[in-house]
Amino acid sequence: MKNATAPHDAAARRAVVPVICYPTDTLPQPDMAMLDALRHEVTHVAEAVAAPREAAAIEVPAGHILRIHSVQGPQVGDLNLFNAHDLSERFYSGKTRALHGTHVTTGDRLWSSFPTLRPMATVTHDTLAWYGIDEFGGSVHDVIGTRCDPYTGHLLAGTQYHHCCHSNLTRALAAHQGLSLAEAEPFVHDVLNVFMCTGFTRDTGQYFMKASPVRPGDYFEILAEIDLLAVLSACPGGDCSAEHSSDHAACYPLRMEVLRPAQLTTWTPPPVNGYDRSHGGAGGG
Ligand SMILES: [Zn+2]
Repeated sequence: MKNATAPHDAAARRAVVPVICYPTDTLPQPDMAMLDALRHEVTHVAEAVAAPREAAAIEVPAGHILRIHSVQGPQVGDLNLFNAHDLSERFYSGKTRALHGTHVTTGDRLWSSFPTLRPMATVTHDTLAWYGIDEFGGSVHDVIGTRCDPYTGHLLAGTQYHHCCHSNLTRALAAHQGLSLAEAEPFVHDVLNVFMCTGFTRDTGQYFMKASPVRPGDYFEILAEIDLLAVLSACPGGDCSAEHSSDHAACYPLRMEVLRPAQLTTWTPPPVNGYDRSHGGAGGG
């Protein structure tokens, strides 16, 4: 307890029952029946493969579906999402976690950064939804990990490793947008860890990972609520059973597929957040 003396009522203080920070009953709910009908009949329009220890980018028009497939072997993917027309609007993993919990699955939404804070995508199918929360507190598709990166690797081990997800995402984003690596890097953000199985240890509260339960044939599917640019890295950790930020793990590709629902006519993106942005300041603007 690091030199702190427990007060006489410590047990009573610990016994306080938690409350949910953000009850989601007032959130605009996705129309899952409509989305389920939409995803029922689709045509393949595009695909991109993230090679092992590399990333790939693909555009997903609003109302279209992005399906991320496990192929060849168990593999974790680090996903970045952007408004295809404005890279400053991007996936906000921290707020998605605050709203939906540490891991996302069918029916959850992927929220964008301030000031737009709106659903960028809705999870429409997850073949690993059966996994739930295991006895270690682990679950799949987390929004708690940040992304493996060369800076933390250097901090902890003094390494210069260039195929962490952060660097893979940077290269793929730069190539897609025609930006230099230095221009692209600041847009790379905390990810959705697709297929990754993670949690926090109960005794020390540390972030843990374990071998992903994903197998070839599994997929994770989202519907684009706005025009999206998706960038996905096939993590150098492979199934993340042992280590990442190195070339030691067995690594497999991940396939991204864009599907157009047959019933899709026009799609109305959700409005940007309605907060007036005056922040209580005089003069506003
Ligand atoms: Zn990674």
